Amino acid sequence: MKECTILLVTHNKHKVEEIRAMLQEYSQSVVYKVLSLDVIPEKVEIVEDGTTFEENALAKNVSLMRWMFSQKNNVIEDIFSNEEGWLLADDSGLEVDALQGAPGIYSARFAAGELGTGMENSPDEANNAKLLRELDGIPIPSRQARFRCVMALTPVSNLADLSDLIEQTEFFSGSCEGHIALEGHGKKGFGYDPLFIPDGYTQSFAELGESVKNSISHRFKALKNLANHLNQKYR
Ligand code: IMP
Repeated sequence: MKECTILLVTHNKHKVEEIRAMLQEYSQSVVYKVLSLDVIPEKVEIVEDGTTFEENALAKNVSLMRWMFSQKNNVIEDIFSNEEGWLLADDSGLEVDALQGAPGIYSARFAAGELGTGMENSPDEANNAKLLRELDGIPIPSRQARFRCVMALTPVSNLADLSDLIEQTEFFSGSCEGHIALEGHGKKGFGYDPLFIPDGYTQSFAELGESVKNSISHRFKALKNLANHLNQKYR
């Protein structure tokens, strides 16, 4: 069986496990070795300076590759040890129609302005409270929203410079439609899960739990597109 290494541009263990499990479940003729930034001994600065989910996902791969190119020893060979290798980054967030798509790419730090924490992520409770305040008085039919996720997949071989990387990166996206509840329900999950009721359900993501969420979520759909693409490639 062919082996292929995917380095995820994240330290988030939850994401790593989710992506590892799903790729293995959907892979047909490839064994995936899924690594995270934890394999790199020093702290690499990952910049997210895009204006869209796509740009931010790409920016994460660019940051990592820029660091790899700057190293004297060949870290790429060390990490990928001659197997076919990829960088994979994702960016996700919540878009609320009544707020013209906000919080969008700022989902993780939606309440940072009022907390005075600048570019740092704000706590989920503060983000959810701000969202409810901004939607105060808006009835259920006008509270449509969706989670979106975009993944950027970049091959690590044959990259002479950063413009090669940008040209060779492919994007996979997924979204999950729903609406924002009038108040939070449930304790499972993270982020905006207590407030998000997916279409076709009456409970929030935080009540429905992992197995339902992982079968309809934005991340699941993006990852399924990506797994299908890799299956085609390695057929
Ligand atoms: P990131 O893509 O990991 O940077 O996530 C951005 C932010 O979007 C998170 O911090 C959450 O606030 C929100 N978000 C993304 N996906 C989900 C989800 O599945 N449930 C709840 N919130 C999410």
